[in-house]
Amino acid sequence: MLVGIGPGSTEHMTARARAAIAEADTIIGYVTYIKLVADLIEGKEIVRKSMTEELDRAIEALERARQGKKVALISSGDAGVYGMAGPTFEVLFQAGWTPPVLDAHGVPEPGGIVVEVVPGASALNSCAALVGAPLTHDFCAISLSDLLTPWPTIARRLDAVAYSDFVVALYNPKSGRRTRQIVEAQRLFLRHRSPDTPVAIVKSAYRRRERIEFTTLAHMSDADIGMLSTVLIGNSNTVVLGGLMVTPRGYANKYDVQAGGTTREGERPGRSLSTGLNGWLENLFADHAAGDSIEALAQRHRLPVEYIRDTLENPLEAAAQDAPEEAEA
Ligand code: SAH
Repeated sequence: MLVGIGPGSTEHMTARARAAIAEADTIIGYVTYIKLVADLIEGKEIVRKSMTEELDRAIEALERARQGKKVALISSGDAGVYGMAGPTFEVLFQAGWTPPVLDAHGVPEPGGIVVEVVPGASALNSCAALVGAPLTHDFCAISLSDLLTPWPTIARRLDAVAYSDFVVALYNPKSGRRTRQIVEAQRLFLRHRSPDTPVAIVKSAYRRRERIEFTTLAHMSDADIGMLSTVLIGNSNTVVLGGLMVTPRGYANKYDVQAGGTTREGERPGRSLSTGLNGWLENLFADHAAGDSIEALAQRHRLPVEYIRDTLENPLEAAAQDAPEEAEA
């Protein structure tokens, strides 16, 4: 069982994660995480591993499972988010493992090793909850760790998401030895985003030494950031009000909140925005017909020239607009 235990406090662990740990004969994990679940593991075999022994942990888990033991490999947050799930599957596949065939009662074939990934709240969920609602619109996660990823790959992703205005959660932002990565990230972001862009730094979310700091992109790299911090960078609409970081979902584009939530002129509830795909296409064709060049349109909408040219040359049928959209919950 690859168990994500959430940010650190027992209240934020799922019932299935607790049950998985309770069911297990053997618990394998990084020392800090073992400590976080100390109350659940009495009488079990414990294999403590240090940070750099990820593959060892996975190999050890496989060996125990082959001996017929029920093994819980624990990760903080979610086991599949920069966690042990990936390396474990890699080790398993290398050892010739395949998912076992289950009978009608869900019992695996003899010798089969069943793998269960138990989801948990990842750092971005926990840290976002502590600062308000920063992830209410498109967001992504980027790890600044170059231990296994070349810097150009990381930098290219930073550049792309800064340009395309995602809210970003930076994992592994800084360590004793890796101090320059966050400065480089800041430089790349400042090429596309305002220096006033809100930034929240959450350290040890839901743990004893929890600490939250609000700053801006301009001052991000001066903040106290470490191995146990996640850095949340807002998009161009994100605000900090009353000590809360909030990214609007875009209701204001469609509804006039001040006027009691009435729909703005030209917009219809349950339908795409007038600047949604169909409305946008209509305007694009109109602007082009009125003489705007493909290059000018590409620049206006910050989209590739080839995309605009293709769109104008191959007009697809507008999507049916009769059925109202799914609820905006
Ligand atoms: N599997 C984990 C991530 C492991 S990578 C998850 O899903 O959350 C380790 C990084 O996660 C840290 O460098 C930090 O950026 C982030 N992190 C993990 N736990 C955290 C916590 N309690 N508070 C803040 N950041 C955390």
